[in-house]
Amino acid sequence: MSVLIYAESWNGKFKKTSFEAISYGVDLASKMDSEAIALTINAESVEELYKYGVAKVISVKNDSLKSFATNSFAGVVKEVADSISAHTIVMLASSNVNSFAPSLSIEWDASLATGVIAEPASFEPFTVNRKVFSNKAHADVVLSKENKVLVVAQNSFGVIENEVSGSSEEFNVSPSDGNVSVESTEMASGKVNLMDAEIVVSAGRGMKSGDNWAMIEEMADLLGAGTACSKPVSDIGWRSHEEHVGQTGKNIAPNLYFAIGISGAIQHVAGVNSSKVIVAINTDEEAPIFKAADYGIVGDAFKVVPELIEKIRTLKG
Ligand SMILES: Cc1cc2nc3c(=O)[nH]c(=O)nc-3n(C[C@H](O)[C@H](O)[C@H](O)COP(=O)(O)OP(=O)(O)OC[C@H]3O[C@@H](n4cnc5c(N)ncnc54)[C@H](O)[C@@H]3O)c2cc1C
Repeated sequence: MSVLIYAESWNGKFKKTSFEAISYGVDLASKMDSEAIALTINAESVEELYKYGVAKVISVKNDSLKSFATNSFAGVVKEVADSISAHTIVMLASSNVNSFAPSLSIEWDASLATGVIAEPASFEPFTVNRKVFSNKAHADVVLSKENKVLVVAQNSFGVIENEVSGSSEEFNVSPSDGNVSVESTEMASGKVNLMDAEIVVSAGRGMKSGDNWAMIEEMADLLGAGTACSKPVSDIGWRSHEEHVGQTGKNIAPNLYFAIGISGAIQHVAGVNSSKVIVAINTDEEAPIFKAADYGIVGDAFKVVPELIEKIRTLKG
């Protein structure tokens, strides 16, 4: 019996979430006396995964899986899980994983838990803690079916290096056409994908006008970061809705999140509080964002951000 860990990739390269998935899945498998086996779909090379403790990798390569489609990915993961007699599938939350996990759990006749934030608190019954109510509360849920699908929230377990020597095997699949096919894709060029960004520079209404974003973009460029904003900023049209984070926007979990001129309303924090480190810059020392922040700078963004930019430039040489 085994734990199957889905290591997600994009354009052949592993997403950072894959390494946390492997770390979680390897640890879980050892506690369940099971073998940890990773699954990759169209990844260029699998060796990187051995660094996180998984010794066996199943590699699926298939041109019809180059574009993501819910049914075909769910079908392939199920097929591999059946072939290795898996009892648990571990995946890390992402927009694609979140969209195919429900179909997978139905097809595989499994109990599903999303937003999982810890390893099971008990195995009999199988109980995991998950986020509920836009991350404002946690719930212990019991997964009663023999097959289980766990979708782990980003940054809740962490990445643990534990190099092993591993091996991989190719697995041939014939993905079903499903009922959705991708005809064409258009990439926004030159921008860091907000969902995958390690660093995010985010700004709010404290910026006073959409014309004042040059320094936010400059800071993001220097750091190789994505840019985000609060809801009112995108509602007013200062920034695109693509950048809106929070309860009604994107849910992100970078390693470093800068909140600049953002008050820190609960609906905003709900979408960013899985970030590893939050740095807030705000003129109002009573702003609620300082309660969520690891580091706070009380000051005017129009003075602090240019100074930060200078410091980053100096550090980068
Ligand atoms: C159902 C519902 C869902 C919502 N969903 C979301 C969501 O998904 N995301 C979201 O962001 N909001 C959401 N909101 C809105 C949320 O409640 C807040 O109104 C919003 O987050 C406030 O945005 P803000 O912090 O940019 O603006 P403000 O609340 O106006 O705060 C601006 C901040 O900038 C500071 N500031 C001003 N000048 C400067 C300066 N020169 N330098 C530094 N700081 C300065 C101020 O002190 C203040 O703290 C939702 C609300 C509801 C009711």
